[in-house]
Amino acid sequence: MNGGGLRSVDDQVARVLARVAAPEPIELALLDAQGLLAAEQVTASAPLPGFDNSAMDGYAVHSADVAGARADSPVVLPVVGDVAAGARTVHSVGTGRCVRIMTGAPMPAGADAVVPVEDTDAGVARVSIRAPAEPGAYVRLVGEDVESGDVVLEPGTPVGPAQVGLLAAVGRERVLVRPRPRVVVISTGSELVDVGERAGPGEIIDANSYLLAAAARDGGAEVYRAGIVPDDKRRLLDLLDAQLARADLLITSGGVSMGAYDVVKEALREFGTMEFVKVAMQPGTPQGFGTLGERNTPVFCLPGNPVSALVSFEVFVRPAIRQMLGKRQLFRRTVEATVLESMRSPLGRRQFRRGLLHREDSGEYVVEPVGGPGSHLLASLSRANCLIVIDEPVSEVASGDRITVLPLLLSGG
Ligand code: AMP
Ligand code: MG
Repeated sequence: MNGGGLRSVDDQVARVLARVAAPEPIELALLDAQGLLAAEQVTASAPLPGFDNSAMDGYAVHSADVAGARADSPVVLPVVGDVAAGARTVHSVGTGRCVRIMTGAPMPAGADAVVPVEDTDAGVARVSIRAPAEPGAYVRLVGEDVESGDVVLEPGTPVGPAQVGLLAAVGRERVLVRPRPRVVVISTGSELVDVGERAGPGEIIDANSYLLAAAARDGGAEVYRAGIVPDDKRRLLDLLDAQLARADLLITSGGVSMGAYDVVKEALREFGTMEFVKVAMQPGTPQGFGTLGERNTPVFCLPGNPVSALVSFEVFVRPAIRQMLGKRQLFRRTVEATVLESMRSPLGRRQFRRGLLHREDSGEYVVEPVGGPGSHLLASLSRANCLIVIDEPVSEVASGDRITVLPLLLSGG
């Protein structure tokens, strides 16, 4: 806590991360595992390639037969067979003969090299070969990629396209991975209606459950919007109770300030390890966090202003989701940029301002604040591509100063 009774951002982040555990690994079909981290070691049960095969369309030969072949004195060989990729019959080829072969087709017994069709006259019954071939030329040997028993995937490796392809190649249909945490998002507020409904006098459309669900999905979660609850303690507790069964992480928005109807705080403060504090940041000062239910599900109670909600998500929830995914890099990488306008910030708090970051031709980053500090300004948030971070000890930033920026490369950016 600092002098104003506020908890520091870093302290709150550390408390959150200390409570958030990764869900148990699950086995998923290859394409469902894409983007997740492997949670097992996979070894190959067979070699890759599985048999010696040709790397080119051409002719399988005894290399000794074509050692003297030149453009001006070609070696002419009879073509005694034709093997295509997928051929099942085992060919063999004697000295002084050759077999026409396609890329990926099994090497005939006896042959030890392939002459690419480009070095021949492409003959069908007889072929004129214009270049020699080293023993082993254009032959892919059994096991040269993967030997039987080789490790093809280590735990902790991200399963990307190449890993998915390799797993398929070694015959694995499923793989054990760290699953996407199931994140349930709840909006609270008696003023809220769902999008598609008409907002009556004093009512507003719920933006936060969409915004937070999109942010959680962008962070790697599987998301569920559980809808809106009015400022009613009983109904909030009932909904939370029902959602705890499926949630690995729960997010609520609204109802955590000092107002008369801030029921999230009222309803949850006595439960489990839930704690409602003021954090030295702006926006997003009031924060609730703790765990609920038998599975110690982390619950984040974020303030209701959409900008406060998204900033709070970025600071506390996104790193928690990444920790659940098993990622090593929990925080976004920051960049240093030159700020193009002066700004003020309350001393002792970390201020997050919306900004537009771009890179000059010189390679230098510059950032321009977008909109004011007001935390209800959703349109300026949508024009921004970064958060400008004004650290706790700084109360004034002058145009031209270097400053830390958190690029918000949400999907599509
Ligand atoms: P609260 O944190 O509940 O005091 O809400 C602060 C402000 O955010 C109020 O102006 C609310 O109407 C607004 N707000 C709360 N929840 C939402 C939401 N789901 N979508 C949009 N605005 C909201
Ligand atoms: Mg409210």
